[in-house]
Amino acid sequence: MSERARIYLDYAATAPIKTEVIAAMQAASNTAQFNASSLHAEGRAARALLDEARAHIGELLGASRKEITFTASGTEADHLAITGTVRALGRSAHVVAAAIEHHAVLHALDELRERGCEVTLVPVDAEGRVDPVRFGAALRDDTALACVMYANNEIGSIAPIADLAAIAHERGSLFHTDAVQAPNWLPLDVGRLGIDTLALSAHKFGGPRGVGVLYVRAGTPIVAAIPGGGQEFGRRSGTENVVGIAGAATALELAAGAREENFRRIGGLRDRLEAGVLATIPNVRVNAGGSPRLPSISSCSFAGVDPAAALMRCDLEGLAVSAGSACTSGTLEPSHVIRAIGGDVASATLRFSLGETTTAAEIERVLAILPNAVAALRGTGAGVK
Ligand code: PLP
Repeated sequence: MSERARIYLDYAATAPIKTEVIAAMQAASNTAQFNASSLHAEGRAARALLDEARAHIGELLGASRKEITFTASGTEADHLAITGTVRALGRSAHVVAAAIEHHAVLHALDELRERGCEVTLVPVDAEGRVDPVRFGAALRDDTALACVMYANNEIGSIAPIADLAAIAHERGSLFHTDAVQAPNWLPLDVGRLGIDTLALSAHKFGGPRGVGVLYVRAGTPIVAAIPGGGQEFGRRSGTENVVGIAGAATALELAAGAREENFRRIGGLRDRLEAGVLATIPNVRVNAGGSPRLPSISSCSFAGVDPAAALMRCDLEGLAVSAGSACTSGTLEPSHVIRAIGGDVASATLRFSLGETTTAAEIERVLAILPNAVAALRGTGAGVK
């Protein structure tokens, strides 16, 4: 199969970098190829660009520039928010998180556990929803931090962040949200969300890999995870990736501008995909179909299909999709998210994640390929109609 015929439906893993972003980075590299902490003219030029990108991202989030910290990834932004706030509070605290958080959050929580903190994971329902009552019941007087992701990366379920943050604040806890999957689709006004910290990753919204953004509400106690030269208001040492950061600012602006139109259009393609799958393939479960969810993620579990074989078959057929499992290291661990919603982790769950450049023709092609592929994998004949 030629490369041209391949269909990329793994935008939730990484969205392609946009041409406007590449242009912004090229322009930035002309003026900002030196160290933004240097005091000479070259350094000051880089600093000016960094300041501009910080102010721009702040504006897009409804935040001030001092509330924006750049990191090298969404993972690092989550880690800094979680370990940095709890450590700043200076006690062995209790932390609450949703059971379906990304590993970036779950493993930061493991680190806190090793430091003596107690962690409560709040279960979700069969649709991947976090129930505010259940969430509230998990909070305690000694809860320092609660974390709930804005939208889940495997099944796309959206959590009622503003409500959850308000509940956490009533109980005296800080609230962190991993909003890495949100920028293309959901409003990101930090005032409305009412959160204390929020993590983003540029490569999920058309920016470059290697740039994370952490919003930290003014006055939120936080200490650096990595000591060093004191960059980023002392929260995150290390010479800033100014060119990448300039690209991230452009990408976030483009994502915000196209958000409503993309939500509608891509949601239509996702609905067509799911209707076609359900009409032509028996024994399929659409995960989180009953939850408010991202328009871009369709997670389908195919009963009786081997997960590794399904992924391989899709790849051979020219479909770039992910399993419903944590593929951060390219391995096929059973998914904690599918487990949390009561799904069958022994069967294949495929995550089709659509993006701005996905076309209706690509979706029709997927629907032409998938029924035969699943039938072959199930050993139920050469194909289905
Ligand atoms: N959080 C969520 C919800 C994600 O989907 C991802 C990436 O898959 C991350 C965090 C980690 O982001 P990064 O790849 O920038 O480290």
